[in-house]
Amino acid sequence: MGQLGFDFGEQPKRLTRVTPARLSTFDDCPRRYRMNYLDRPTPQRSGPWAHSTLGAVVHTALRELFDLPVQRRTPERAAALVTQHWKDGGFADAEQAAVYRERARRWVADYVEHNDVSGDPVGLERWVSAPAAPEGGPPSLIVEGRADRIDARGGELVVVDYKTGKRAPDEYEARASQALALYAVAAARTLRKPCRRVELHHLPSGTIAAAEHTDDSLRRQLRRAHETATDLRTATDTLSEGGDPDEVFPARTGRHCAWCDFRPSCADGRRAAQAVLPWALLASRDDGAMTE
Ligand code: SF4
Repeated sequence: MGQLGFDFGEQPKRLTRVTPARLSTFDDCPRRYRMNYLDRPTPQRSGPWAHSTLGAVVHTALRELFDLPVQRRTPERAAALVTQHWKDGGFADAEQAAVYRERARRWVADYVEHNDVSGDPVGLERWVSAPAAPEGGPPSLIVEGRADRIDARGGELVVVDYKTGKRAPDEYEARASQALALYAVAAARTLRKPCRRVELHHLPSGTIAAAEHTDDSLRRQLRRAHETATDLRTATDTLSEGGDPDEVFPARTGRHCAWCDFRPSCADGRRAAQAVLPWALLASRDDGAMTE
Protein backbone atom coordinates (compact mmCIF):
# COMPACT_ATOMS: atom_id res chain seq x y z
CA MET A 1 0.00 0.00 0.00
CA GLY A 2 1.28 3.54 -0.72
CA GLN A 3 1.18 6.58 1.56
CA LEU A 4 -2.40 7.27 0.55
CA GLY A 5 -3.50 3.68 0.94
CA PHE A 6 -3.60 2.94 -2.78
CA ASP A 7 -3.51 -0.61 -3.92
CA PHE A 8 -0.85 -0.81 -6.64
CA GLY A 9 -1.34 -4.51 -7.26
CA GLU A 10 -3.62 -4.20 -10.29
CA GLN A 11 -1.97 -2.58 -13.31
CA PRO A 12 -4.07 -0.59 -15.79
CA LYS A 13 -3.59 -0.86 -19.54
CA ARG A 14 -2.24 2.66 -19.94
CA LEU A 15 -0.54 5.00 -17.47
CA THR A 16 0.03 8.66 -18.24
CA ARG A 17 3.42 9.95 -17.09
CA VAL A 18 3.31 13.52 -15.87
CA THR A 19 5.72 15.98 -14.29
CA PRO A 20 4.59 19.10 -12.43
CA ALA A 21 6.26 21.22 -15.12
CA ARG A 22 4.32 19.56 -17.95
CA LEU A 23 1.01 19.86 -16.10
CA SER A 24 1.44 23.54 -15.29
CA THR A 25 2.61 24.34 -18.82
CA PHE A 26 -0.49 22.66 -20.27
CA ASP A 27 -2.76 24.40 -17.71
CA ASP A 28 -1.23 27.80 -18.53
CA CYS A 29 -1.35 27.45 -22.32
CA PRO A 30 -1.89 24.25 -24.35
CA ARG A 31 -0.13 25.81 -27.38
CA ARG A 32 2.93 26.48 -25.29
CA TYR A 33 2.88 22.85 -24.15
CA ARG A 34 2.73 21.66 -27.75
CA MET A 35 5.59 23.89 -28.84
CA ASN A 36 7.76 22.90 -25.90
CA TYR A 37 7.16 19.16 -25.73
CA LEU A 38 5.72 17.97 -29.04
CA ASP A 39 6.65 20.14 -32.02
CA ARG A 40 9.88 19.04 -33.67
CA PRO A 41 12.02 20.79 -34.60
CA THR A 42 11.26 22.99 -31.59
CA PRO A 43 9.84 26.36 -32.75
CA GLN A 44 11.99 29.44 -32.33
CA ARG A 45 12.24 30.61 -28.71
CA SER A 46 13.32 33.85 -27.10
CA GLY A 47 16.81 34.20 -25.62
CA PRO A 48 17.76 33.58 -21.98
CA TRP A 49 15.98 35.29 -19.07
CA ALA A 50 18.08 36.88 -16.34
CA HIS A 51 15.80 35.59 -13.54
CA SER A 52 16.09 32.05 -14.89
CA THR A 53 19.87 32.34 -15.08
CA LEU A 54 19.99 33.66 -11.52
CA GLY A 55 17.68 30.90 -10.25
CA ALA A 56 19.73 28.18 -11.93
CA VAL A 57 23.00 29.47 -10.45
CA VAL A 58 21.53 29.62 -6.92
CA HIS A 59 20.09 26.11 -7.25
CA THR A 60 23.44 24.75 -8.45
CA ALA A 61 25.36 26.50 -5.65
CA LEU A 62 23.04 25.08 -2.97
CA ARG A 63 23.14 21.61 -4.45
CA GLU A 64 26.93 21.59 -4.46
CA LEU A 65 27.04 23.06 -0.97
CA PHE A 66 25.10 20.08 0.44
CA ASP A 67 27.45 17.71 -1.39
CA LEU A 68 30.30 19.06 0.76
CA PRO A 69 31.23 17.69 4.19
CA VAL A 70 29.30 19.52 6.93
CA GLN A 71 32.33 21.50 8.21
CA ARG A 72 32.83 23.02 4.73
CA ARG A 73 29.23 24.27 4.40
CA THR A 74 30.11 27.82 5.36
CA PRO A 75 28.63 31.14 4.19
CA GLU A 76 31.92 31.95 2.43
CA ARG A 77 31.91 28.65 0.55
CA ALA A 78 28.27 29.12 -0.48
CA ALA A 79 29.07 32.59 -1.87
CA ALA A 80 32.13 31.21 -3.68
CA LEU A 81 29.96 28.56 -5.36
CA VAL A 82 27.74 31.32 -6.78
CA THR A 83 30.80 33.02 -8.25
CA GLN A 84 32.08 29.72 -9.62
CA HIS A 85 28.86 28.92 -11.45
CA TRP A 86 27.84 32.44 -12.45
CA LYS A 87 26.55 33.16 -15.96
CA ASP A 88 25.50 36.48 -17.51
CA GLY A 89 22.71 35.14 -19.77
CA GLY A 90 19.72 37.51 -20.02
CA PHE A 91 21.18 40.43 -18.05
CA ALA A 92 21.25 43.91 -19.56
CA ASP A 93 25.04 44.19 -19.35
CA ALA A 94 28.04 43.10 -17.30
CA GLU A 95 27.39 45.82 -14.73
CA GLN A 96 23.84 44.64 -13.98
CA ALA A 97 25.00 41.01 -13.90
CA ALA A 98 27.70 41.92 -11.35
CA VAL A 99 25.09 43.59 -9.10
CA TYR A 100 22.96 40.44 -9.10
CA ARG A 101 25.95 38.16 -8.67
CA GLU A 102 26.72 40.00 -5.45
CA ARG A 103 23.07 39.78 -4.34
CA ALA A 104 22.99 36.05 -5.02
CA ARG A 105 26.25 35.59 -3.09
CA ARG A 106 24.67 37.39 -0.14
CA TRP A 107 21.42 35.39 -0.36
CA VAL A 108 23.14 32.01 -0.16
CA ALA A 109 25.61 33.19 2.51
CA ASP A 110 22.70 34.44 4.65
CA TYR A 111 20.85 31.21 4.02
CA VAL A 112 23.75 29.17 5.38
CA GLU A 113 24.20 31.61 8.26
CA HIS A 114 20.56 31.50 9.42
CA ASN A 115 19.49 27.93 8.65
CA ASP A 116 20.67 24.56 9.92
CA VAL A 117 22.64 23.08 7.03
CA SER A 118 24.29 20.32 9.07
CA GLY A 119 21.88 17.56 8.01
CA ASP A 120 22.59 15.42 4.96
CA PRO A 121 19.61 15.51 2.58
CA VAL A 122 18.37 12.17 1.29
CA GLY A 123 17.94 13.73 -2.13
CA LEU A 124 19.51 16.61 -4.05
CA GLU A 125 17.79 17.33 -7.37
CA ARG A 126 16.69 13.73 -7.08
CA TRP A 127 14.31 12.15 -9.57
CA VAL A 128 11.28 10.70 -7.77
CA SER A 129 8.37 8.82 -9.26
CA ALA A 130 5.16 7.13 -8.17
CA PRO A 131 2.10 5.48 -9.68
CA ALA A 132 -0.96 7.24 -8.35
CA ALA A 133 -4.67 6.55 -8.17
CA PRO A 134 -6.62 9.67 -7.20
CA GLU A 135 -9.91 7.77 -7.16
CA GLY A 136 -8.59 4.64 -5.47
CA GLY A 137 -8.24 1.32 -7.28
CA PRO A 138 -5.56 0.81 -9.92
CA PRO A 139 -3.21 3.72 -10.70
CA SER A 140 -4.11 5.96 -13.61
CA LEU A 141 -0.96 8.05 -13.83
CA ILE A 142 2.70 8.16 -12.90
CA VAL A 143 3.79 11.38 -11.24
CA GLU A 144 7.48 12.11 -11.42
CA GLY A 145 9.97 14.93 -11.31
CA ARG A 146 13.17 16.28 -9.82
CA ALA A 147 12.82 17.74 -6.32
CA ASP A 148 15.34 20.44 -5.35
CA ARG A 149 16.00 18.82 -1.98
CA ILE A 150 14.47 16.08 0.15
CA ASP A 151 15.31 16.07 3.85
CA ALA A 152 14.70 13.31 6.37
CA ARG A 153 13.49 14.79 9.64
CA GLY A 154 12.00 12.87 12.56
CA GLY A 155 11.38 9.73 10.53
CA GLU A 156 9.53 11.56 7.73
CA LEU A 157 10.60 13.20 4.49
CA VAL A 158 10.35 16.92 3.76
CA VAL A 159 10.26 18.36 0.24
CA VAL A 160 12.25 21.59 -0.09
CA ASP A 161 11.89 23.89 -3.10
CA TYR A 162 14.17 26.93 -3.53
CA LYS A 163 12.64 30.16 -4.82
CA THR A 164 14.45 33.26 -6.10
CA GLY A 165 11.53 35.27 -7.51
CA LYS A 166 10.36 38.79 -6.72
CA ARG A 167 7.79 37.88 -4.11
CA ALA A 168 8.16 35.78 -0.98
CA PRO A 169 5.64 32.91 -1.11
CA ASP A 170 3.32 32.33 1.87
CA GLU A 171 1.96 29.21 3.55
CA TYR A 172 -1.09 29.22 1.33
CA GLU A 173 1.14 28.94 -1.75
CA ALA A 174 3.10 26.09 -0.18
CA ARG A 175 -0.15 24.23 0.52
CA ALA A 176 -1.66 25.05 -2.89
CA SER A 177 1.43 24.12 -4.91
CA GLN A 178 0.60 21.15 -7.10
CA ALA A 179 4.30 20.60 -7.79
CA LEU A 180 5.19 20.27 -4.09
CA ALA A 181 2.26 17.92 -3.43
CA LEU A 182 3.21 15.68 -6.34
CA TYR A 183 6.84 15.62 -5.21
CA ALA A 184 5.65 14.60 -1.74
CA VAL A 185 3.66 11.69 -3.19
CA ALA A 186 6.54 10.64 -5.45
CA ALA A 187 9.20 11.02 -2.72
CA ALA A 188 7.18 8.87 -0.30
CA ARG A 189 6.88 6.15 -2.88
CA THR A 190 10.48 6.29 -4.15
CA LEU A 191 12.16 6.57 -0.75
CA ARG A 192 9.66 4.41 1.16
CA LYS A 193 8.98 6.88 3.95
CA PRO A 194 6.00 9.13 4.77
CA CYS A 195 6.21 12.61 3.27
CA ARG A 196 3.67 15.27 4.17
CA ARG A 197 5.65 18.43 4.85
CA VAL A 198 6.56 20.73 1.96
CA GLU A 199 8.60 23.93 2.18
CA LEU A 200 9.31 26.90 -0.09
CA HIS A 201 12.67 28.50 0.80
CA HIS A 202 12.76 32.03 -0.64
CA LEU A 203 16.38 33.15 -0.83
CA PRO A 204 15.92 36.92 -1.43
CA SER A 205 13.78 37.39 1.72
CA GLY A 206 15.28 34.57 3.79
CA THR A 207 11.78 33.23 4.53
CA ILE A 208 10.42 29.69 4.60
CA ALA A 209 6.77 28.98 3.80
CA ALA A 210 5.73 25.51 4.96
CA ALA A 211 2.63 23.32 4.81
CA GLU A 212 1.69 19.89 6.17
CA HIS A 213 -0.35 17.80 3.78
CA THR A 214 -3.01 15.27 4.74
CA ASP A 215 -4.17 12.26 2.75
CA ASP A 216 -7.15 14.37 1.65
CA SER A 217 -5.11 17.36 0.47
CA LEU A 218 -2.72 15.10 -1.45
CA ARG A 219 -5.62 13.25 -2.99
CA ARG A 220 -7.20 16.54 -4.12
CA GLN A 221 -3.96 17.51 -5.85
CA LEU A 222 -3.72 14.10 -7.48
CA ARG A 223 -7.29 14.41 -8.70
CA ARG A 224 -6.47 17.76 -10.29
CA ALA A 225 -3.32 16.28 -11.85
CA HIS A 226 -5.36 13.36 -13.16
CA GLU A 227 -7.89 15.70 -14.83
CA THR A 228 -5.16 17.73 -16.52
CA ALA A 229 -3.30 14.55 -17.51
CA THR A 230 -6.47 13.14 -19.09
CA ASP A 231 -7.00 16.33 -21.16
CA LEU A 232 -3.34 16.32 -22.13
CA ARG A 233 -3.43 12.70 -23.20
CA THR A 234 -6.60 13.21 -25.26
CA ALA A 235 -5.09 16.25 -26.99
CA THR A 236 -1.83 14.41 -27.72
CA ASP A 237 -3.67 11.40 -29.15
CA THR A 238 -5.95 13.61 -31.27
CA LEU A 239 -2.93 15.47 -32.67
CA SER A 240 -1.13 12.27 -33.56
CA GLU A 241 -4.30 11.11 -35.38
CA GLY A 242 -4.15 14.19 -37.60
CA GLY A 243 -6.06 16.78 -35.53
CA ASP A 244 -5.61 20.50 -36.18
CA PRO A 245 -2.75 21.61 -33.87
CA ASP A 246 -4.34 25.02 -33.18
CA GLU A 247 -7.69 23.49 -32.26
CA VAL A 248 -6.35 20.60 -30.22
CA PHE A 249 -3.76 22.72 -28.39
CA PRO A 250 -5.34 26.22 -28.44
CA ALA A 251 -3.49 29.38 -27.55
CA ARG A 252 -4.43 30.68 -24.09
CA THR A 253 -3.40 34.30 -24.23
CA GLY A 254 -2.93 36.62 -21.27
CA ARG A 255 -0.38 38.62 -19.34
CA HIS A 256 1.87 35.55 -19.29
CA CYS A 257 2.44 35.98 -23.04
CA ALA A 258 4.70 38.93 -22.13
CA TRP A 259 7.39 36.54 -20.88
CA CYS A 260 6.59 33.36 -22.81
CA ASP A 261 9.64 31.73 -24.42
CA PHE A 262 7.63 31.01 -27.56
CA ARG A 263 6.55 34.58 -28.35
CA PRO A 264 8.76 34.64 -31.47
CA SER A 265 6.69 31.73 -32.84
CA CYS A 266 3.25 32.86 -31.64
CA ALA A 267 1.49 35.77 -33.33
CA ASP A 268 -1.51 35.50 -30.94
CA GLY A 269 0.74 35.91 -27.94
CA ARG A 270 2.57 38.89 -29.46
CA ARG A 271 -0.78 40.60 -30.06
CA ALA A 272 -2.00 39.81 -26.55
CA ALA A 273 0.81 41.35 -24.50
CA GLN A 274 3.81 43.58 -24.92
CA ALA A 275 7.11 41.81 -24.32
CA VAL A 276 9.06 42.58 -21.17
CA LEU A 277 12.81 42.90 -21.26
CA PRO A 278 14.82 39.79 -20.33
CA TRP A 279 15.81 41.19 -16.92
CA ALA A 280 12.36 42.57 -15.95
CA LEU A 281 11.44 39.59 -13.75
CA LEU A 282 14.46 39.77 -11.47
CA ALA A 283 13.86 39.62 -7.72
CA SER A 284 14.65 43.27 -7.00
CA ARG A 285 12.25 46.04 -7.95
CA ASP A 286 15.19 48.37 -8.54
CA ASP A 287 15.08 47.79 -12.29
CA GLY A 288 11.32 48.12 -12.66
CA ALA A 289 9.20 46.07 -15.07
CA MET A 290 10.66 47.54 -18.23
CA THR A 291 9.10 46.72 -21.55
CA GLU A 292 10.56 46.61 -25.02
S1 SF4 B 1 2.83 33.57 -26.35
FE1 SF4 B 1 0.98 33.22 -25.06
S2 SF4 B 1 -0.51 32.17 -26.39
FE2 SF4 B 1 1.53 32.01 -27.37
S3 SF4 B 1 2.36 30.07 -26.69
FE3 SF4 B 1 3.12 31.61 -25.28
S4 SF4 B 1 1.64 31.64 -23.58
FE4 SF4 B 1 0.66 30.57 -25.30
